Amino acid sequence: MTHANLAAAEALALQLDTNDPLASFRDEFLIPRHADGSEQIYFCGNSLGLQPRATRAALIDELDDWRNLAVEAHFRGKHPWMPYHELVREDLAAVVGALPGEVVAMNSLTVNLHLMMVSFYRPTAERSAILIEKNAFPSDHHAVESQIRFHGYDPARALIELEGDEANGTISQDAILRAIDEHGSRIALVLLPGVQYLTGQAFDLAPITNAAHRKGCRVGFDLAHAAGNLHLQLHDAGCDFAVWCSYKYLNSGPGAVAGCFVHERHARADLPRFAGWWGHDQASRFQMRPEFIPAAGADGWQLSNPPILALAPVRVALAMFRHAGMAALRAKSETLTAYFDALIRRELAGTLDIITPQETNRRGCQLSLRVKGLRDAGRALFDHLHARGIVVDWREPDVIRAAPTPLYNRHLDCLRFVRAVREWAAHGKA
Ligand SMILES: *Cc1c(COP(=O)(O)O)cnc(C)c1O
Repeated sequence: MTHANLAAAEALALQLDTNDPLASFRDEFLIPRHADGSEQIYFCGNSLGLQPRATRAALIDELDDWRNLAVEAHFRGKHPWMPYHELVREDLAAVVGALPGEVVAMNSLTVNLHLMMVSFYRPTAERSAILIEKNAFPSDHHAVESQIRFHGYDPARALIELEGDEANGTISQDAILRAIDEHGSRIALVLLPGVQYLTGQAFDLAPITNAAHRKGCRVGFDLAHAAGNLHLQLHDAGCDFAVWCSYKYLNSGPGAVAGCFVHERHARADLPRFAGWWGHDQASRFQMRPEFIPAAGADGWQLSNPPILALAPVRVALAMFRHAGMAALRAKSETLTAYFDALIRRELAGTLDIITPQETNRRGCQLSLRVKGLRDAGRALFDHLHARGIVVDWREPDVIRAAPTPLYNRHLDCLRFVRAVREWAAHGKA
């Protein structure tokens, strides 16, 4: 970039940020500082979302209610603890495009995945397989393998891993549908991500669900990287269940209470499940009788009374999604990531490959990047960026992930990233 080009590029980025109707949401977050005192360029919202300013006060409120009211805060608290998980229900449903009764905030992601598989992975000798993508997130892989073994089957036969068939290891829709067609009769459960964590590829949930259902398979989605990122329509997609965590795009803090979706068609079904008292029908829960009567809908899968201190940040963060609106956030996200993508292709064509598909409907906000050439160059670039307060993440063996999130990232952040990579390519690469 010449100086004139640089000035023009910066003016354009600033213009785009000024015209962004969601720009003010950035001020509602605490942006960490780099060593020199400037704000970090934070591209790790796909790993741990930033802290909303309102979170601290919400936590103090709960501590105050505990101090002042103790057990009575269950009913008399500012936000009564007894129905606390219901305070997040509407907003959680809106974020993923579900009916309110289809979602519940509980546990953490991998726990919810296991609970869902208890109900929706019911292998038989003829139909014992689970279909997942190759290079699935390790926790999902462990969960799936252990479920297969738990039921007495052998992962060597019952775990089908879908290979990437595209140049960068991504999977075409055709390949997914072909696999379902070919193996469907022995697949008990199709479990795919909404957005694949490593490649950033987004999957089209409805056609996958339809194809799998036609073959008699159950379908679940892991939305860890999709919730708060894609404009999901889970109810319409028709999958049997979905699970996600809340600390990534949903900005609810480390280890935050996760989300779970069970489609309405199972709301009153007598499915096998691992039960606990909080999943008991509310009207009779406190009669403390031994027989279990499940609450209708996703609520019926709850085990324990909710961790209030961990749910308060979820309540705060989801309210921000309500204010911004998922459709508006996704619209901004598409523009922002397209800008980032175009800048990388134009300015860094000799340095970086973009693994993530270029089509808007095949990705969320994240771009997965690979440094061309030398094997260890990626790690060196990652270190270079880190030293300049540009926070991206590194996935072995060679992927840098950068996620411009629509709630707090700017076009200017993308431009600064690109400039820092150019500087490294020109001088620091050695
Ligand atoms: C982040 C992530 C997890 C993390 O699981 P936890 O149970 O929240 O620790 C699991 N699966 C996928 C796909 C993820 O992206």
